[in-house]
Amino acid sequence: MSVPVPMRDVAGEAPGYPTSVELRAEVERLLRTRGVTLEAIADVVCAVQAPYFPDLTPAECLLSVGTVLDKREVQHAVLTGVALDTLAERGLLDEPLLSIVRSDDSLYGLDEVLALAVTNIYGSIGLTNFGYLDKEKVGIIGRLNRSKGGQVHTFLDDLVAAVAAAAAARIAHQRRP
Ligand code: MG
Repeated sequence: MSVPVPMRDVAGEAPGYPTSVELRAEVERLLRTRGVTLEAIADVVCAVQAPYFPDLTPAECLLSVGTVLDKREVQHAVLTGVALDTLAERGLLDEPLLSIVRSDDSLYGLDEVLALAVTNIYGSIGLTNFGYLDKEKVGIIGRLNRSKGGQVHTFLDDLVAAVAAAAAARIAHQRRP
């Protein structure tokens, strides 16, 4: 996978390492190429939190998704998971991992483990939301899970669920009076 992130030295960053702003832009681009918009993730956030906060707006959900994607732990998780999906799609992983990732083997489970790197940031509400989304496959998560035709979304569906779960947990924490 080619990652067109300019490498530059920035104060406080490791030499040659992209800034979190550059990584955020790359993550957004990467998600879009895999069929996921931030708006689609925000729709999931709204669906999860609307019963608790009837005045919740799509703009607030979108802002929360963006804030989650600003976190380096989240950016790293998305870059890693999407890279593995893409490598599997192109047949570039070695066996037996290739077949395991390609078939989204239900006993593999590391797609969920990687997603925990995202949900952990917002504590137990994030984890509970993730469990719910993983089971109910709301919105874009269900579409990714069902999509066939050579596309591999073994990691992506869990990462998107985790970002939505974290963004929803963030709203829950922020709105507590
Ligand atoms: Mg999965």
